[in-house]
Amino acid sequence: MRVMPLVDEVRVDTDAVLMSHTGVPLTRPTTFRFTLDVNSDQHQKLMSYAGSFRLAYNHQIGRVKANLAQRAAEKTYGIADADLTPALSWSKVSFINHMNAWKNGQDPTSPVNDDGTRGLSWRAEVSADVFETASVNAAQALANWKTSKTATRAGKPVGFPRFKSKHKSIPVFRLRAKYSEGTTSPVRPTGPKSIRFPKLGELTVRQGTKQLRRMLAKGRFRVYAAAFRYEHGRWLVSITGVAAQFHPQRRTTTGRHRPRAGVDLGVKTLAVVADEHGRVLDTIEGVKALQHAQARLKLAGQRYSRTKSNSTGRVKAARRLGKIHRRVKALRAAVLHQLTTQLAQGYTSVTVEDLNAAGMVRNRRLARAVSDAAFGELRRQLEYKCSWYGTDLVIADRWYPSSKTCSGCGTVKADLSLSERTYSCTVCGLVLDRDVNAAINLAKYAPNFKKSQPHLVVA
Ligand SMILES: [Zn+2]
Repeated sequence: MRVMPLVDEVRVDTDAVLMSHTGVPLTRPTTFRFTLDVNSDQHQKLMSYAGSFRLAYNHQIGRVKANLAQRAAEKTYGIADADLTPALSWSKVSFINHMNAWKNGQDPTSPVNDDGTRGLSWRAEVSADVFETASVNAAQALANWKTSKTATRAGKPVGFPRFKSKHKSIPVFRLRAKYSEGTTSPVRPTGPKSIRFPKLGELTVRQGTKQLRRMLAKGRFRVYAAAFRYEHGRWLVSITGVAAQFHPQRRTTTGRHRPRAGVDLGVKTLAVVADEHGRVLDTIEGVKALQHAQARLKLAGQRYSRTKSNSTGRVKAARRLGKIHRRVKALRAAVLHQLTTQLAQGYTSVTVEDLNAAGMVRNRRLARAVSDAAFGELRRQLEYKCSWYGTDLVIADRWYPSSKTCSGCGTVKADLSLSERTYSCTVCGLVLDRDVNAAINLAKYAPNFKKSQPHLVVA
């Protein structure tokens, strides 16, 4: 599942660098995640917010689609470009303005109610921000499609935004925290296990709010938004914002005695860390609990598929499946965080493979140890954590043959099958664990590597 960064164009105080009460700049994008404990009224309310978000998003995508179709049809009739139905503006601001006019009954296309009034009759029951953030998301999705089509965007091609389906899309919505400096955040903890949100009021959370509470009190965190999602039968909220920089001592690599490190993600172990001299610095074991949970997940999935639809057994099996799913997800997230923190804090420089390159042949080795979705997440975490701790992050070129190269003499094998767990060099006689060999090569990686670089290649 891809997590969209929650960045809004319409933000408060974006141009000024925010400061904590003691003058530390707030430059560290940070997210606090909580699981909500809601009663059925609150659940209904959150669901209606998510429904409004979906409605607003689909409305925006729909009107752009209709506009594009209209113009395309007119073109086929031979209408001159100047006489075509004008193209809609896709800017976030124009989307927000249209949405407000449409739901408030001031747009020619606003819905008409039975009593003759115009606009969404129930609009006041939902925070206006839900409609606005949905509009921002729709504009962003369209912008992604446009830049992807014109090839100005890296990564996988992005399709034209799809409508959100009531049954297939995960219920989500977002509220922004708009407040000026020196005032209290509208999103704030009100107790050890409760958080207040704009318009929704106080909601109970399962995790402690102490850290968030303290950081807000000292001005060391500024809230931008709260993103809600309903997944596996529970509501989750991510509170995003910027936090104060770490103390300078934590942001420098001086005094860090560990050298440049190459990291290879493997099968037997989650990751192997080595230096350019061929020393293994660390082997990070995969978590047994994760493997165990994954095995249980498979079983629960099989059991679920054997139940009849609409049966009590299916409901029970689904509940069990959901529970194990959540555990696997949580364990996987914990493992990744541990690994990336260890790397970013421990070394002066960290080199990893380019896992994200679009169209890259999937690295099957890793598929079992870490899920495919974790590729991007690992990279994302390393990026921000390395910047937190002042560590250099080097992403090896996607053509760099870290596995096929002999870390002893530099010979590159033309072929190395995935089943070969040991690298044995026919030129210098080096015999080394495959993952260790790859990690050493990554540690040796020079950022100016060229694909055309002369290598001795042996078959
Ligand atoms: Zn060799």
